[in-house]
Amino acid sequence: MHTITNDTPAETSPAIGNRQVLTYSALNTFRNCPRKYKHRYVDHIRRPQRPDALAFGSVIHGALERWYTLSPSTDPTARLFSTLDYIDGDFNNRAADPVQRHQHHLARAMFEGYAARYPKEEFEVVEVEKEFLCPIRNPDTGRVSQTFVMAGKADGIVKLNGELYLLEHKTASVLDSNYLDKLWTDTQIALYSHCLRELGYPIVGVIYNVLLKTRLQQKAGETEVEYEQRRAALAAKNKSGKSTAKRQLPETDDEFRARLADWYAKTDSGGAFHREVVFLSEDRMNLLTEEVWEVTQQYLDARRRGKWLLNTSNCFSYQRPCPYLPYCQSGFNPNVRDNLFESVAPHEELIELTSSIGTPGLAPGLTDGLDDDIDSPF
Ligand code: SF4
Repeated sequence: MHTITNDTPAETSPAIGNRQVLTYSALNTFRNCPRKYKHRYVDHIRRPQRPDALAFGSVIHGALERWYTLSPSTDPTARLFSTLDYIDGDFNNRAADPVQRHQHHLARAMFEGYAARYPKEEFEVVEVEKEFLCPIRNPDTGRVSQTFVMAGKADGIVKLNGELYLLEHKTASVLDSNYLDKLWTDTQIALYSHCLRELGYPIVGVIYNVLLKTRLQQKAGETEVEYEQRRAALAAKNKSGKSTAKRQLPETDDEFRARLADWYAKTDSGGAFHREVVFLSEDRMNLLTEEVWEVTQQYLDARRRGKWLLNTSNCFSYQRPCPYLPYCQSGFNPNVRDNLFESVAPHEELIELTSSIGTPGLAPGLTDGLDDDIDSPF
């Protein structure tokens, strides 16, 4: 039986029975840098979030959930209005907040464009926002871990030509071959597909539903000074020494909305919406199962010994510094920690999941009473 020793830091992530809930995010954090895992999932510290950066993607996600929860047989106008109401409700400070106002214009235009692009779907919606718990198995014995359980939430499950696919929504700023190539490396979705197979959904692939976020901005217009400077420059180039240039006025909401609608109706360069299907090979799924198991074993070892290695090759991944860089650089100075970080428990979405629905979609193997801690190397 694995025992947590006294030097093991206390963890308060949710548990199902005796099993600790692991999310893809936690697993991946540990894989990338064990020290980062400790900061986030053991010590519960994080840099304060930029709410605006996060809001847009989650509003679109919520709108898509509303859209696909409503039956396709619902009157199309009522379906769209219900979804737009949802978007309006998420930007209820838009009259006073220019960032919210901009995002509100964008979200509405994106969804109106989406509804026009997909008035009917080729696929049938089977599940929307499917929450799940699934066992982690030892790939050599097939036995279920008694220490961990994997949890997650899939955007949707759909049936196409008689086969089941995971539906994954993405908002993207750029859609090019690089972006599409990277979808193959999306371990999270492969892992979710594996979990849903454990739950009895024979997922054969993933349909990525990509919605492009335009970079269009509402034109602010010229100040009096800017206008005078531009007019003087134009006049200087003119033989008559005069210019007929008019002052550029701020773009109205209606003008901006019309420009956004044109952008979302575009069909050139692939348009603003894209569906990409990626199939999941058995080899890949087997490798994934092995990798998940290995990471949990390394995690157990780190936890038992209280050793959380710093993977410094990960400090500047994704072309930006790791949010914990100042803390690590300071040698874990408590003043740096107190000044730059906030204390927030992890797995927020799963706390909601476990408290609201108990044990959703409990996969076979979670109640079969297999041997204790078979994944523990101790
Ligand atoms: S700064 Fe580097 S070592 Fe520190 S947590 Fe981040 S990735 Fe790990």
